[in-house]
Amino acid sequence: MDILWILWILPTALAVEETLMDSTTATAELGWTVYPTSGSSENSWEEVSGYDEGMNTIRTYQVCNVFESNQNNWVRTKYIRRRGAQRIHVEMKFSVRDCSSIPGVPGSCKETFNLYYYESDSDTASKSSPPWMENPWIKVDTIAADESFSQVDLGGRVMKINTEIRSFGPVSRNGFYLAFQDYGGCMSLIAVRVYYRKCAAVVRNGAMFGETLAGAESTSLVLARGVCIPNGEEVDVPIKLYCNGDGEWMVPIGRCMCKAGHEPMDNGTICKACQTGSFKPSQGDESCIQCPINSRTTSEGAINCVCRNGYYRADSDPLQMPCTTIPSAPQTVISSVNETSLMLEWRPPRESGGREDVVYNIICKSCGGGGGRSGCTRCGDNVQYSPRQLGLTDNRVHISDLLAHTQYTFEVQAVNGVSDQSPYSPQYSSVNITTNQAAPSAVSIMHQVSRTVDSITLSWSQPDQPNGVILDYELQYYDKELSEYNATVLRSQTNTAVIRGLKSGAIYVFTVRARTVAGFGRYSGKMYFQTMTEAEYNSSIQEKLPLIVGSAAAGLVFLIAVVVIVIVCNRRGFERADSEYTDKLQHYTSGHMTPGMKIYIDPFTYEDPNEAVREFAKEIDNSCVKIEQVIGAGEFGEVCSGNLRLPGKREMFVAIKTLKSGYTEKQRRDFLSEASIMGQFDHPNVIHLEGVVTKNSPVMIVTEFMENGSLDSFLRQNDGQFTVIQLVGMLRGIASGMKYLSDMNYVHRDLAARNILVNSNLVCKVSDFGLSRFLEDDTSDPTYTSALGGKIPIRWTAPEAIQYRKFTNASDVWSYGIVMWEVMSYGERPYWDMTNQDVINAIEQDYRLPPPMDCPSALHQLMLDCWQKDRNNRPKFSQIVNNLDKMIRNPNSLKAMTPLSSGVHLPLLDRSVPDFSSFSTVDEWLDAIKMGQYKDNFANANFNSFDVVSQMTMEDILRVGVTLAGHQKKILNSVQMMRAQMNQIQSVEV
Ligand code: AMP
Repeated sequence: MDILWILWILPTALAVEETLMDSTTATAELGWTVYPTSGSSENSWEEVSGYDEGMNTIRTYQVCNVFESNQNNWVRTKYIRRRGAQRIHVEMKFSVRDCSSIPGVPGSCKETFNLYYYESDSDTASKSSPPWMENPWIKVDTIAADESFSQVDLGGRVMKINTEIRSFGPVSRNGFYLAFQDYGGCMSLIAVRVYYRKCAAVVRNGAMFGETLAGAESTSLVLARGVCIPNGEEVDVPIKLYCNGDGEWMVPIGRCMCKAGHEPMDNGTICKACQTGSFKPSQGDESCIQCPINSRTTSEGAINCVCRNGYYRADSDPLQMPCTTIPSAPQTVISSVNETSLMLEWRPPRESGGREDVVYNIICKSCGGGGGRSGCTRCGDNVQYSPRQLGLTDNRVHISDLLAHTQYTFEVQAVNGVSDQSPYSPQYSSVNITTNQAAPSAVSIMHQVSRTVDSITLSWSQPDQPNGVILDYELQYYDKELSEYNATVLRSQTNTAVIRGLKSGAIYVFTVRARTVAGFGRYSGKMYFQTMTEAEYNSSIQEKLPLIVGSAAAGLVFLIAVVVIVIVCNRRGFERADSEYTDKLQHYTSGHMTPGMKIYIDPFTYEDPNEAVREFAKEIDNSCVKIEQVIGAGEFGEVCSGNLRLPGKREMFVAIKTLKSGYTEKQRRDFLSEASIMGQFDHPNVIHLEGVVTKNSPVMIVTEFMENGSLDSFLRQNDGQFTVIQLVGMLRGIASGMKYLSDMNYVHRDLAARNILVNSNLVCKVSDFGLSRFLEDDTSDPTYTSALGGKIPIRWTAPEAIQYRKFTNASDVWSYGIVMWEVMSYGERPYWDMTNQDVINAIEQDYRLPPPMDCPSALHQLMLDCWQKDRNNRPKFSQIVNNLDKMIRNPNSLKAMTPLSSGVHLPLLDRSVPDFSSFSTVDEWLDAIKMGQYKDNFANANFNSFDVVSQMTMEDILRVGVTLAGHQKKILNSVQMMRAQMNQIQSVEV
């Protein structure tokens, strides 16, 4: 290959003449055939030795019969092979004697001769054939001398030699003869050379062209295709050259160029790999470039240079740019603290890493009051940075909204365009600071919970910046008609207060401020609330009466409770004693809460629930919401998925609950109440409200999107597909969300797997905060059974909540136990097909659900704890979270299973594995254990009677084609159960 290559690139004369016959090279007689042969030698051409111009001996033919008329003397060359040529050139050297110089010469004397050719496939000519005449010979031309000589030097040495070239073609036979005809001249044919022309192999425009013979005519152009030289690439196709009749290349078309990593050398005839330490990034005629600083190549022919260890190239860096590294730490960070804000300034890093795009990030760590470094955690979102926290181009930042009296560590990181490629975290300098004492910020909102003729109950939000533990609140109020100087001051330990002894129908002005050890914060803005007039009071009493009377029919226990409440309330002056809110109002005034703690506020305690929506839910412009598809049916309208694009924020996928058109004002209020509740929560295991659309139709509630939908159907679709740890992880998330809600004093009342949503990361979030489904008038959903004072999901609800509506965090814990059971049984219906009344009776008689199949006993024990009859004995959500965390940390604790037959704590019949005897075919039985998809597999493998199925082993199940581990277990378990049931039947029969 290499040798061939060298041949290709050898410089070659463009036009090449290839000789077919040369009379001068003859070493002996030429031996051409002469006609006529008879008579003396003077009759025709005669071969004689002579000399050429260089005085070399040559063989020539002479004739000189000028004194005789009718001359016709021929001399014919030997057979000349064509060797592929199509056009033949004949170069003749000859001398002719000038007729006028010969004394007494007749007029028939000639100074010309004729050239002929005759084609033949083989050397078959003889003395008489082809006949000596034009046709069959083909005449090429009559050749005349440019110069004739008039005197012969007797030494024969001085000659005037003419050179003439004639060409003919196309020739197509294997060869040909030439003949020279003299018809009465005196001449000497000194040399005859016969040749053809060809274009030599050449490299042109980066492509190789092979040797090409010229065409048959002088004007012919013979096309030759080129191929790129090694390591060249076509840029322009086709690549071609033409060989003209003279054997010269012309009209180049197309070209090749050296590919990346190779440069042209030797006038573009080779593409040479870039040497180590240099590179060429793309195809082209350019030369290789030296590797930039801090980079190198690993081999020849590099198309780029790789950065040395510790050096990098940003995506936008050109390959010619040196590789760079991360900057060193910023220098001399100086802080100046002012109460709860501070200014940080620093000098640029000593080493910029070779780049000019160094920016700074601020990392804030709060180290609590105590100091110890180990207890530092990242600061929350509330800390404010000006101009911003990340990507600072200036060497300073102002940080505010820190907590008072708190130690912080601030790290100032220097980063540049390659920091994200370095395995090391950015270099930083840090400062430790301690903020000063600062008073709490102002309370931003206050609202009325209830009112009577002489009292108003108010609650307010905690200040955004408490700056310490809130000790209490100071509330000031005065009659709007009177002066501020007459204001009454009242202290409250919680964020709520009942202000009594007011005038009826009067407007009062209220303001409130929080107090910490740093003193009082600023007062809130003034807010106006009015007590009831007598008339309002009387009409509200009228409204309440039917409710109380109606309740009387409903049960003695409740009646007594209502009467007690009414009596109590009347004594206090009737403080809007709506029974459904009593529980919640208790929390506001209970007094044993952590002072200043954030608690949940029931939107229905607002006189105008729209105000609650405004306070807790962000209004979204409907142009920001794009509905894409319907994914479910909600209480009030369709639930859709779609996109939310808020100004300045990234577009996000959201779920959109819509309120169907034609709604009543009450439906609108009930629908939006869910948003007012959800909007108060902020926890990773509680569904997050993005906002509401209330100003346009349809009214919408926009929440984060949960890709896997509700937990119950998700589990049913993935039966047996998760590990125990994954299931426990889901349960842990739900418990954590519930702990948060219970800390906020929120009682869910409808905790069930159907009300848990699952996202694509299997994170479970508590959802469904709508209250409407509890309302008596909605009878569409059988899950919720009408009960006294509202509808109740019996199977999930604690007995005290069913019996006397005692909904508490402890009743939510009971429901949580049911959710655990639903999760561990992959969405089985609690208590299967038992009627609600059977469930109530069973629970009353201390029956409890058995462990689902494969459920670790530790988890079933936790369920049983949640189902303690005495609600005080049930674990708190915080304990449940701790308990599950322990199991996750120690998976061995999940290995122990409750034996199938054990019945100590599980008096309720285990119906998770149905009794095979109630089915007549294996197919029916497979359907019942929810493995109907394997009917064909069983039938094909002849497992078609209970007798054979009951003997199945794990190998059989595998062989049948059950590949999912969860399904294998389920079938094996059910087979074992079938065997046990068969044994039982047999022993009974015996
Ligand atoms: P709901 O009215 O809340 O019970 O919602 C009805 C159905 O809509 C649910 O069962 C889910 O399947 C679906 N859904 C509700 N909210 C979301 C969400 N945030 N992400 C995904 N699907 C949801």
